[in-house]
Amino acid sequence: MNTPEDYISSLYSTDPMLEKVLAGIREQGMPEISIAPQYGKLLTLLVLAGRTSSALEIGALGGYSGICIARGLTPGGRLVSLELEERYAQVAKGHLTEAGFGEQVEFRLGEALPSLEKLGEEGARFDFFFIDADKTNYPNYLEWAIRLANSGALIVGDNTLMRGRVADPNVSAGSVQAMRRFNEQIASDPRLDSTLLPAYDGLSIARVR
Ligand code: MG
Repeated sequence: MNTPEDYISSLYSTDPMLEKVLAGIREQGMPEISIAPQYGKLLTLLVLAGRTSSALEIGALGGYSGICIARGLTPGGRLVSLELEERYAQVAKGHLTEAGFGEQVEFRLGEALPSLEKLGEEGARFDFFFIDADKTNYPNYLEWAIRLANSGALIVGDNTLMRGRVADPNVSAGSVQAMRRFNEQIASDPRLDSTLLPAYDGLSIARVR
């Protein structure tokens, strides 16, 4: 029997541009951990619904999520993409350019925390955040997202169930503990309204009050 996720995938035709991105990631020997296709669609929908003109993503990888976000931006909207690895940012930039968004995306290289601090100093503010990077820093990324958010901004975090490990009391790895703190804060922070979608690897969505 097919899984519900397989069934949903069967309803939608494949996306040639995003298929190209996945092939590019494979060819480059990069990790094949792009966001699930249906969550990619959800990113586009959320960005569209918020009439978003400024988005920030933490973790570019090959540009899959970047394209999904850019597709929803208002005309002339901007995406800032933070990426640790220069090589990954090059690949992502190539894919974003091929998808027609090369002029709208700005990549910032290196560790995300100093980049976030710099954006704060510059007075940058965003309407949409996508967190999809090293799990240990998720709580820090959440705090920065709230700090850099316009009122009403959305914050989306990927992989927040960590293949179920967050729910397993026997797992005490640092990254899992950090994700539990992230999830607890998303759920209880008085500055946020939120939910956590359980399909795939978990997707957290919060709105900054
Ligand atoms: Mg991810």
